[in-house]
Amino acid sequence: METIRILMFPWLGYGHITPYLELAKKLTTRNFIIYLCSTPANLCCIKQKISEKYAHSIQLVSLHLPTLPGLPPHLHTTNGLPLDLMPTLKEAFDMAEPEFANILSAIKPDLLIYDFLQPWAPLAASVQNIPAVEFITSSSTMTSFMFHYFKKPGVEFPFTKIYFRDYESKFLDKLLSCASNPEEKDRASEGVARSCKIVLIKGSRIIEGKYIDYVSELVGKKFVTVGSLVQELGPDDEDFKITEWLNKKEKKSTVFVSFGSEYFLSNEEIEEIAHGLELSNTNFIWVLRFPKGEERKLEETLPKGFLERVGERGLVVEGWAPQLKILGHDNIGGFLSHCGWNSVLESMHFGIPIIAVPMHLDQPIIARFVEDIGVGVEVVRDSKGQLHKERLAEVIKQVVMEKSGEFVRIKAVEMKVKISEKGDQEIDEVVAELVDVCTSSSSS
Ligand code: UDP
Repeated sequence: METIRILMFPWLGYGHITPYLELAKKLTTRNFIIYLCSTPANLCCIKQKISEKYAHSIQLVSLHLPTLPGLPPHLHTTNGLPLDLMPTLKEAFDMAEPEFANILSAIKPDLLIYDFLQPWAPLAASVQNIPAVEFITSSSTMTSFMFHYFKKPGVEFPFTKIYFRDYESKFLDKLLSCASNPEEKDRASEGVARSCKIVLIKGSRIIEGKYIDYVSELVGKKFVTVGSLVQELGPDDEDFKITEWLNKKEKKSTVFVSFGSEYFLSNEEIEEIAHGLELSNTNFIWVLRFPKGEERKLEETLPKGFLERVGERGLVVEGWAPQLKILGHDNIGGFLSHCGWNSVLESMHFGIPIIAVPMHLDQPIIARFVEDIGVGVEVVRDSKGQLHKERLAEVIKQVVMEKSGEFVRIKAVEMKVKISEKGDQEIDEVVAELVDVCTSSSSS
């Protein structure tokens, strides 16, 4: 097989760039050369995740966005971005289309792989006769749910376990307003429509088979899964303080608490989660993050006396923690997660049961999915959408240690085994499909 050169262009979120990078690593072992394009604000962190062995096969390409008011270059990333600046980041990203077209013509790749937020990228590629394939990093469950509302307004989603609760109606309303707003709907639909022959999606048929079939049928294009793409651990993933602390705990005794790379807890949420962890009497590692420029002292943010009361039972880490290293540790027995798709797949990869506390966007849908397939239990809120410490503590205890949670612990391990048995089969199929796209394009 001749070498195929691919330009990869993910959205500017950490949860998007890392799956692209992991796919890149897998492809380089199968005779592909990858150019990974993002902003300098993202590339500086990504660089550390690329070991020497990929130095020649993965090259980083900088995309410079215009500097809009309130959005200096170090904020050209969703990691740590204050939520109110997200629309400005999207605007600056769209404005970078001409710069991206220049990158395409300088590199002249055989193929472009692009994310769902930039349907202008495959257009720029087609002007230069470069075929393009979309790679969606979210779940097939959410993607099929979304396209169902776009294509069949007013018809109930056929998989009834997947729904928004009454107190989450604002998320469904947002989806419905996207479905009726031509500009937003077109962004998602055109991204898929402009993808040559197939659409790549993160996940596995053994986990989401029926949703993959349904979305393929809805949009009339084959969705091909790339697997879980859990990151390879690098030396920077070591954190001696955390490992040393975790080593002293008992097997499966500790909960890891994290809400991903983009969400910031409100003061009320911090308070309720802290009290819930305290009431649960379970060991925990909690990653607490603040938007860039709005960092606060832990002692002033957590309930008074919290750190003293929990003592050695809890470790609060500020900003960022090596999630994979932690989830892979024998002494972790549960993951209290916002149900970002990457986190859910990582938890399944390590056989860790999930305590689901979805916050916004697609997370409620993924939380329902997690519970439906039996690898987690959701902490259901009250009718007003408030989280309660008592319920939080109950679910933590159930999932980590009580007899009533045995089913979820067993299921999580079964899922880990199934996923590891599947190995890299999906990547082989992806390679065959990508070669087919490139060959048909060059022959036409
Ligand atoms: N992550 C991490 N350390 C942290 C927070 C997040 O390593 O302190 C990683 C996590 O392992 C996952 C990604 O960031 O790969 C978060 O992606 P996810 O889809 O779960 O959530 P998002 O950030 O997109 O909301």
